[in-house]
Amino acid sequence: MQTLSVVIPVYNEEENIHELYRRLKKVLTEDFSSFNYQILFVDDGSSDRTFQFISELRKNDQNIKIVQFSRNFGHHLAITAGLDHAEGDLIVTMDGDLQDQPEEMIKLYEKLQQDCDVVYGERQNKKFPFFKRACSKLFLTIIKLLVGEDIVINSHIFRIMTRQVVDQVKLCRETNRYVVGLIGWVGFKHDSIPVEHGRRFKGETKYSFSKLVRLALDAIFTFSDYPLKLIIRMGFFLVLFSFFCGSYFIFDYMFFGIKVPGWGSLIVSVLFMGGMQVFMIGLMGEYMGRMYMEVKKRPLYIVRRIVSK
Ligand code: UDP
Ligand code: MG
Repeated sequence: MQTLSVVIPVYNEEENIHELYRRLKKVLTEDFSSFNYQILFVDDGSSDRTFQFISELRKNDQNIKIVQFSRNFGHHLAITAGLDHAEGDLIVTMDGDLQDQPEEMIKLYEKLQQDCDVVYGERQNKKFPFFKRACSKLFLTIIKLLVGEDIVINSHIFRIMTRQVVDQVKLCRETNRYVVGLIGWVGFKHDSIPVEHGRRFKGETKYSFSKLVRLALDAIFTFSDYPLKLIIRMGFFLVLFSFFCGSYFIFDYMFFGIKVPGWGSLIVSVLFMGGMQVFMIGLMGEYMGRMYMEVKKRPLYIVRRIVSK
């Protein structure tokens, strides 16, 4: 009998654990009765009763496995740990606030049967605030432009994957990670189906604005060196532009003499050049900072304990 692992990162989700488990268990025992199941909670350093609640559930259900982090490492590292510790032949990843609805899992599975290796749920009527949806759209447009057509990149966590895909993703050990991007990067046959996006069952989002910005920058800087190439091009065009300006000024001087000395334009161009230089140094600094993090070769996350069979 094959095993289906459901990986769920949870960070201070005490209000959602019981409802999540109730709905998930129903789906796993009814729709996936031909599978053994494993529910793998990754407790991302919760400070509330999340760990206590999942431990209590585990007393009655040995199919629950818990990986508890030593502190909060973040959503994508929690998913990474989930993929590292999942034992199933098929692996589902989903959020723990019931925005991804367990009842939709069967649709992902049915699609997977049509010769796919990864099927992600394309959220319909996203239940996020307008600002978050707009930022997410902008981010996806940029990242798709940078990464190109060959890599399937999106932001859908709710997905099902085969063991083969997960084994390849596990080989990618970079510290700054956008895990759904890595799943796209390893290739294989991807497809999607529309799924309902629910409202968060209880509690507030655990993604602060700064966490979101960090994730977007991680995705952009780890998946593309295009910004660095852009710098070279911009530098080249600026040099070319200054050459044309210089020629124009010489021409102007020779035929029309010196007019009012244009210190205004001088200030503007100095500011422009100064700004460009600081921006570009900052851009390179971003890559260097990330390289620094990678060469340290620290573990991606630290596990406080694992509770399993
Ligand atoms: N999460 C996590 N670590 C974090 C932030 C979030 O494990 O540092 C989990 C959270 O418990 C939830 C999922 O990641 O299961 C998605 O987070 P959330 O619902 O807060 O994000 P949103 O849906 O608002 O983008
Ligand atoms: Mg959510």
